[in-house]
Amino acid sequence: MSNFNLSIDALLQRLQSRSKLHAGYPYNLAFDYQHILPLLQYTLNNLGDAYVEGNYGINAKDFEREVISFFAGLYHLEKDDTWGYVTSCGTEGNLYGILLGRELYPDGILYGSADCHYSIVKAARMFRIPFVEVKSQIHGEIDYSSLRQALAKNRNQPAIINVNVGTTITGAVDDISKVVDILAELNISQFHIHVDGALGGMLVPYMEGATPLDFSQYPIGSIAVSGHKFIGSPVPCGVVLARKQKVQSFDIEYLGSTDTTITGSRNGLTPVILWDAIQQRKNLFKAEVLHCRKLAEYFQNKIAELGHFALLNPFSTTVVFERPEKSIEKRWQLACYGNIAHIVVMQNHHESILKQLLQELDLMSTIAA
Ligand SMILES: *Cc1c(COP(=O)(O)O)cnc(C)c1O
Repeated sequence: MSNFNLSIDALLQRLQSRSKLHAGYPYNLAFDYQHILPLLQYTLNNLGDAYVEGNYGINAKDFEREVISFFAGLYHLEKDDTWGYVTSCGTEGNLYGILLGRELYPDGILYGSADCHYSIVKAARMFRIPFVEVKSQIHGEIDYSSLRQALAKNRNQPAIINVNVGTTITGAVDDISKVVDILAELNISQFHIHVDGALGGMLVPYMEGATPLDFSQYPIGSIAVSGHKFIGSPVPCGVVLARKQKVQSFDIEYLGSTDTTITGSRNGLTPVILWDAIQQRKNLFKAEVLHCRKLAEYFQNKIAELGHFALLNPFSTTVVFERPEKSIEKRWQLACYGNIAHIVVMQNHHESILKQLLQELDLMSTIAA
């Protein structure tokens, strides 16, 4: 049945109120892109390859290329080996990276941990790649001895490996250097490593002690990052980066462009949004990461002090705790899995809001004492 009571004003009100109490999804809700509103007058479409100027002129591909080069710099991918584009979300970047692996190795096997995002499993199904699920450790990081075993069993077949840099549920980071060592040990030379860095791709480079996300140091093939997670965006978006050498292109003559991406038409507004955020905040990203980490530690400590279970992985701002009652879950938009829930501390969270949540979790009576 259609609802005749919908209105933009009512929607605005709902969005405002639902944005106040939000803790479960890794979205930075603190951004201001009001000044790009005039762009909404145009049909911005970055159709086709970001590096190929097609005949459709109402695009922002120059902004898109700047965004890609920012990420290339962040991950030490050499300029002349850089290819990528602004995607519609992290999932599209994962689809792209896994598809690239399959194009390079049509008889490859896809490996991913039990904690990898469902988009990886989706990629396996869509592209008909045999998928081997590898066990995870209890905190969510891939189990390296299980990975070694699985790879050893199929050592005559190429390997497409998904490495999680920040799992969805616990924010665990798989160690690329260990994955690379295992491949070397087993003498597997035909492989494609795809990094799923949806959130962690923007955290790890700014934290001390993590294995660096470094294309110059490790044979990473591709990486996907979500744009609306750490950076923040009113529209879901993401970035995928790949080694240019590995990327094959297919000419679509009628576009006067090259159709190397997953979709046809592509959002031309999101590259401008990401570009704008990078211009405004590139020197602040590190401070933002450290601030979120500190608050996550605060939140975890408070729960742990009270003798409750609370997990905060290194290089993460995701705090996992016991699943609370349904009303709190709904009110705070918590992401829950079985008997656990988590919050992801983002830039829009302040100590006061975390305190309020702690209070509602019925822990505060003891904290206040
Ligand atoms: C959120 C997430 C994704 C998917 O990103 P979307 O932008 O929501 O499509 C992929 N992998 C991980 C680990 C994630 O947390």
